[in-house]
Amino acid sequence: MSKRDYYEVLGVSKDASERDIKKAYKRLAMKYHPDRTAGDAELESKFKEVKEAYEVLTDDRKRQMYDQYGHAAFEQGGGHGGFGGGGQADFGDIFGDVFGDIFGGGRRQSRQQRGADLRYNLDLSLEEAVRGKDVEIKVPTWVSCKPCDGSGAKSGSKPKTCTTCHGAGQVQMRQGFFAVQQTCPTCQGSGQIISDPCDKCHGQGRVEKTKTLSVKIPSGVDTGDRIRLSGEGEAGVHGAPAGDLYVQVSVREHPIFVRDGNNLYCEVPISFATAALGGEIEVPTLDGRAKLKIPAESQTGKMFRMRGKGVKSVRSGMVGDLICKVVIETPVNLSERQKELLKEFEETMGGSNSKNSPKAQGFFDGVKKFFDDLTK
Ligand SMILES: [Zn+2]
Ligand SMILES: [Zn+2]
Repeated sequence: MSKRDYYEVLGVSKDASERDIKKAYKRLAMKYHPDRTAGDAELESKFKEVKEAYEVLTDDRKRQMYDQYGHAAFEQGGGHGGFGGGGQADFGDIFGDVFGDIFGGGRRQSRQQRGADLRYNLDLSLEEAVRGKDVEIKVPTWVSCKPCDGSGAKSGSKPKTCTTCHGAGQVQMRQGFFAVQQTCPTCQGSGQIISDPCDKCHGQGRVEKTKTLSVKIPSGVDTGDRIRLSGEGEAGVHGAPAGDLYVQVSVREHPIFVRDGNNLYCEVPISFATAALGGEIEVPTLDGRAKLKIPAESQTGKMFRMRGKGVKSVRSGMVGDLICKVVIETPVNLSERQKELLKEFEETMGGSNSKNSPKAQGFFDGVKKFFDDLTK
């Protein structure tokens, strides 16, 4: 189909001013607007043609391109779709508040209103989130009515086009120059009248039902992730498309691990002797126990990174690390013998000023200087 010249569509000359173009557009839009032509396909396509011409010719850059290259200038953009939202704004510019939503075009609710989206909150343990899981969920929802196949009309009968709005779902109330668009009171906006409603759904075309769905939770999901099940939301009224179901993941706190992105963190208590002498300890990982070498003279709070023992990202597939923080545990419930050994040990240290405790020494040196400075 060859496209008509934009100037010709609007009935203006090539050197028409923007004002002339707007004037021409307003006149034609009133004539062809879908809210007035109630589903007449030919008039609707006329309106689209007019709108497209207007959008191009009132945009300086686009008009210039059109003047130079004709329709070829916009072909890659996928027809009028490429001009998108801008046109809507321009619409408002001309008609302003007087017409308000009557000519709201895209803002008008579709007559075939899609069913509502649903959200299902799914709690997972850390292990489940990391490994993935097939879960079965029960969702109370609306499903398409079987006996009437979603139409709402008793089998054997068919919904009829509403005679009040002629299927548009909307009616216009006029008050002099002002016009107000309203949802059709006869059909409640559906554009159709069901004279013989289905017994099961009472004409709604859908019934309430608790659906059971199996959902595959991919491995590596985390709190805040959601899985979309397209078309598994509520069925629409009168056979309109169903909404989507979103499974919203939240991961419960774990007694040992804290997750941050793909990394896992855990605190591991070690004895004072192991910290001083070094040694090998066992640490927990999600795959079981692992050995961790503690070098001699490790201080409390030191972190050890175990590469690849974290979580595999659900998006990138990258595997995080497990970070173990060692905490030196002060021994409790000591026997007399143990106390004696410790005292003996302490005596060999010669107090905190020795080379055995560089941190303490540095600290007490600092404290001494602090008091010396005070008394100067
Ligand atoms: Zn109606
Ligand atoms: Zn039914």
